[in-house]
Amino acid sequence: MQWAVHKFGGTSLADADRIAAAGALVREDRSAARIAVVVSAVGGVTDALVGAVERAAARDDSYRELLAGARQRNEAIARDLLGERADPIQAAIAADVADIEAVLEGLRVTRAISEQAMDLVTGFGELWSAQILCALLQGEGTDATWLDAREVLVVAHATTGPAVRWTETQDRLRAWLGTHQEAIAVITGYIATDPQGIPTTLKRNGSDFSASIFGKLLAANCITIWTDVDGVMSADPRSVPEAVLLPELSYDEAMELAYFGAKVLHPHAMAPAVEGDIPIRIRNSLRPQGAGTELRAFAPRAVEASPRSAVKGFSSTRDIALLNVEGAGMIGVPGISHRLFGALREVGVSVIMISQASSEHSICVAILETEAARAKEAVELAFFAELQTGQIRSVEVSGSYSILAAVGDQMVRTPGVSARLFGSLGKAGVNVRAIAQGSSERNVSVVVSAAERIRALRAVHAGFYLSDQTLSVGLVGPGRIGAELLRQLAAQKELLHSRFQIELRVRGILGRNRMVLDDAGLDLSRWREDLANRAVPADIAAFAAHLRADHLPHAVVLECTASDAISTHYADWLSRGIHVITPNKKASSAAQQDYARLRHVGRARNAHYLYEATVGAGLPVITTLRDLVQTGDQVRRIEGVLSGTLSFLFDALSAAMPFSAVVEQARARGYTEPDPRDDLSGMDVARKAVILAREMGRALELDEVSVASLVPAALRGAGSVDEFLAGLAAFDTDMERLRQSAADAGDVLRYVAVIEAQGPVSVGLRRYPAAHPFARIQAGDNIIAFTTARYAELPLIVQGPGAGPEVTAGGVFADLLRLASYLGAPS
Ligand code: ADP
Ligand code: ASP
Ligand code: MG
Repeated sequence: MQWAVHKFGGTSLADADRIAAAGALVREDRSAARIAVVVSAVGGVTDALVGAVERAAARDDSYRELLAGARQRNEAIARDLLGERADPIQAAIAADVADIEAVLEGLRVTRAISEQAMDLVTGFGELWSAQILCALLQGEGTDATWLDAREVLVVAHATTGPAVRWTETQDRLRAWLGTHQEAIAVITGYIATDPQGIPTTLKRNGSDFSASIFGKLLAANCITIWTDVDGVMSADPRSVPEAVLLPELSYDEAMELAYFGAKVLHPHAMAPAVEGDIPIRIRNSLRPQGAGTELRAFAPRAVEASPRSAVKGFSSTRDIALLNVEGAGMIGVPGISHRLFGALREVGVSVIMISQASSEHSICVAILETEAARAKEAVELAFFAELQTGQIRSVEVSGSYSILAAVGDQMVRTPGVSARLFGSLGKAGVNVRAIAQGSSERNVSVVVSAAERIRALRAVHAGFYLSDQTLSVGLVGPGRIGAELLRQLAAQKELLHSRFQIELRVRGILGRNRMVLDDAGLDLSRWREDLANRAVPADIAAFAAHLRADHLPHAVVLECTASDAISTHYADWLSRGIHVITPNKKASSAAQQDYARLRHVGRARNAHYLYEATVGAGLPVITTLRDLVQTGDQVRRIEGVLSGTLSFLFDALSAAMPFSAVVEQARARGYTEPDPRDDLSGMDVARKAVILAREMGRALELDEVSVASLVPAALRGAGSVDEFLAGLAAFDTDMERLRQSAADAGDVLRYVAVIEAQGPVSVGLRRYPAAHPFARIQAGDNIIAFTTARYAELPLIVQGPGAGPEVTAGGVFADLLRLASYLGAPS
């Protein structure tokens, strides 16, 4: 007689609809002649019953409400599903509740929670859900019955957990089956009887274990565990949003994950299935179309694994304490650990993890926080003599830790796993308190502070599961350049992902007053709507904290303002490991000391600060200069037209078009800053000159640049833009004289920056012969000439449009890709 076993967790039985869906899933299974359905209690009912026991013992009378709530939920579900036929079940529930009340009343008086009372009361949830599901199946015409597992399943409680009395259980089940030939047997999970006949349980989450036990007893062809996730994931999806489904897993891997806190499976659940060689499938009852995870006994695969593929999943346990025994007297003395563990065993403290340095100077064990005080006392007692003589210096206990375990069968044969694990933790700034590696090497466990549990989990998960080039991107300043940049990113996103494994997630946009944040990443086709409708008040600190998400390997700010208030935040961002990319010149031309600090902070944290677009917009000016410097060329002089606006002005200047008219025209076309004095003052060019000089290795302050302003001294004070433009006409003749005298000699005027390797740095008007490359540029072009040891005769020239949102955004984008490539993106 072939059996299949299905197990439904509490979430899969949360309400009438879910129970009906569970019934349908069972009836659809044609893989076996008979089906055993192991059920948990209706979701939340066990919790309520546990709570009722605890509160009754604490004389908190709200236990009555908890109990009433649990009862009411079961009754309502029964009514919903069964109508009239719910009557007998309701009567049974009422009788059970009366029994429970009697027990709780007793607890209220004695104030002592016994394990028996707890097990008795909390087991009722399964009795109720089993009867409801059975009645539902019968009502739909299915040949079904139900079994109170306490009639057959006998377990004894050992220190290692519940131990099944197989022979006795097998006999009882056989007897029961002798009188029950129905096609479907609904069996209560979680509950059992002890050898004395007292009701007991398999402990929290134990119905997975029940399913596995009945699977083995019935020699089932398969055990399907229906839950509320798609299967076993690479980490708990509630803690790690990026977790992925693991299609298959060895029993051992699943066991390690479960042992270290993956609640999706009970740690003991695997053993009976393994003995019976029965595959376990974990599936989502809400999405039964998914195949879920299959657990099997794999032979280790021969193919060479990479550190990434070697680790299957991560789990974490909470409420851990560390007990540390330290002292020079332990060195070389045999039997110390024997006595330590003996002492712990005697007081019933189980050791979760052990780590001992090879110097034997200290032994550190991880235990449950609730057992810490007991453990310390016992160990101090055991080493009383050594503590007196000082051979053992101290027995210390500290709490609030979490154990994080990385699990995978292939870890044993794969170098580099630990490097990646600890590298990820280090990058996230997580401090590791203790380490252990199982000799099976299927598991590497680290102890971290409880407060850092989620961060650690996300960081290691990212380290193994995400592309190294997954970038958490924040854009500051969605103005003309910023908006254009978002457009370009949106257009290239897919290609970057598919071809170069670069995954850009724009997770925040910060405007002047508002910002919009999104955990998964904003939809770039509708960021304007989001900024209009979903924005919150701008908060730079919150923005940065959001960007530096632990579940993503890297964060970068694309800073597209021209503000020096914003640029003061770079150092903070870089110090948090957030990369900064910007076309904003303010930080790179600020006081040399601040600039140096910025570069230093970035290097120290391995955070990149990139600003190619500050000079020549999208033209490769800084990259070219760096290449020259880093390859050992001697840069002697840089000379260039660095302002697109001024380039336009001097191209348009002629006898017919006086200077004031040219400025007015440029302004009308939007080529100038709103106040043209900002361009004409030459300060913008001076800032670029400072940036280039620093790139050449010079320490230079902005005020050391000699700047010949084009704003006549008389017009430098206050006064509106219109007043300025009106006043400018008075100086047209001066400018025309300059132009004419140059023209007479066959020259043209250009506003340039000249940076000598050793010598002055100046910004101002110069004359160039008509044949000179600078004379032949297009209106608005930038041109930069590098004269170097290698390019001594003829300079290396970079030329092209050097202003405008499109090319500037393109320059920022190019830096972003450069960053991805530094981070290891394939080219
Ligand atoms: P059920 O009631 O079906 O037994 P549980 O709540 O006991 O469900 O277990 C399922 C939950 O386990 C999931 O919702 C998930 O939050 C948690 N979980 C922890 N670790 C993992 C993991 N590695 N994979 C999947 N789920 C996990
Ligand atoms: N209902 C029990 C619990 O919540 C058993 C289980 O769901 O596995 O722990
Ligand atoms: Mg469970």
